[in-house]
Amino acid sequence: MLRPGVELEDGCRYPWPAVSAARRVSLPEDRGMARLVINLEAIRHNAQLVLELCSSRGLRLTAVTKGVLGDPVIVRQLIQAGVDTLGDSRLRNIMRMRAAGIRAEFHLLRAPSPQEIPEVLSLADVSYHSEVEVVRLLARAAESRGSTHRVVLMVEVGDRREGLMPTEVLAAADAVMKMKGVQLYGLGMNVGCISGVLPSPANMGLVAELAREIEAQLGQRLELVSGGGSLVIPLLLEGKVPAGITHLRMGTAIWLGDYNTWDHPVPGARHDAFELVAPVIELKWKPSLPEGEVGLDAFGRRPAFEDRGPMLRAICALGRQDVYVEGIQPRLSGLRVVAASSDHLILDATAARCPVRVGQEIPFRVNYAALLFAMQSCCVVKEYVDAGGAG
Ligand SMILES: *Cc1c(COP(=O)(O)O)cnc(C)c1O
Repeated sequence: MLRPGVELEDGCRYPWPAVSAARRVSLPEDRGMARLVINLEAIRHNAQLVLELCSSRGLRLTAVTKGVLGDPVIVRQLIQAGVDTLGDSRLRNIMRMRAAGIRAEFHLLRAPSPQEIPEVLSLADVSYHSEVEVVRLLARAAESRGSTHRVVLMVEVGDRREGLMPTEVLAAADAVMKMKGVQLYGLGMNVGCISGVLPSPANMGLVAELAREIEAQLGQRLELVSGGGSLVIPLLLEGKVPAGITHLRMGTAIWLGDYNTWDHPVPGARHDAFELVAPVIELKWKPSLPEGEVGLDAFGRRPAFEDRGPMLRAICALGRQDVYVEGIQPRLSGLRVVAASSDHLILDATAARCPVRVGQEIPFRVNYAALLFAMQSCCVVKEYVDAGGAG
């Protein structure tokens, strides 16, 4: 069984960055490596903003930590900003936060497998489910420990990821209410992840309506009716979150300051909380088209390139094993990502506004997928900066 404090054996070469390792970049082996520069002040700012946005509309907020793998240095900024519940899809991340002494109400957002029920009980205060049979196993285990665990049932409202179909919800709620060892704590919904379905007054309203039915027909008041993630922000701003929704879960809005993609900023949020920086290791004029018979690239794809004549190509020490390359954008104007393999990123620097040189560190903006990969990569140094000084 996983226990807080026990060293995790994970695929990564580095141990979890400890608080004291906040400026790892000074280690000799880290020099010249790609870095993820993490601005703690920007994170506190965004967390306060999102918290205020929710609370001013009477909604509770669970900040979602999976995008940063529950990194304790980062998560402490959320606590400082006033966040009191944290949600993650992975028990490992929750364990990491608990082991670092972070105190909050922890929500396990992804339904657990039957095998991990003991860890769910010891690590999560609330867990989200769509299989009544798993809740039953959880209930039995909790009962035998003499404890009560809080359960949120997820409802599938159109994205076709997790959740009970709406017609199954009442019976499932009834079954859970009859179990000892668990409390039916709430209903939740999630959209925008697998199919890109947007939250709407209609699909959120459906969950609010089901919560009312549970109250009316089964006599159980639900503490939490959870309407979704960062994508709900435009509805929140327009006052279109239906009555009956009491809770939201947000990650992207806090980390990146957008609720969807870069084109959808949260008003007032900062976009500089995370910046990926990688050094240039080669800079040469080369033809823009490959030469020779072309098969597949290192990732089994058949690449297609446009003939742009001679191109000033900069290679950065960064690759597909470090970052989701489609999710980064050079912050220096005129630079453009051309291609990448596992360890090399090719930039077109032909139109660069300022001269690029070997050894120069190129900053990149990251999207959510790129943030996840960079946080995960053992070869990307995490560098914490805090202009505000606190934390
Ligand atoms: C990841 C996740 C969230 C957070 O979504 P953002 O778009 O990053 O705010 C919310 N709920 C669930 C169930 C999730 O898995």
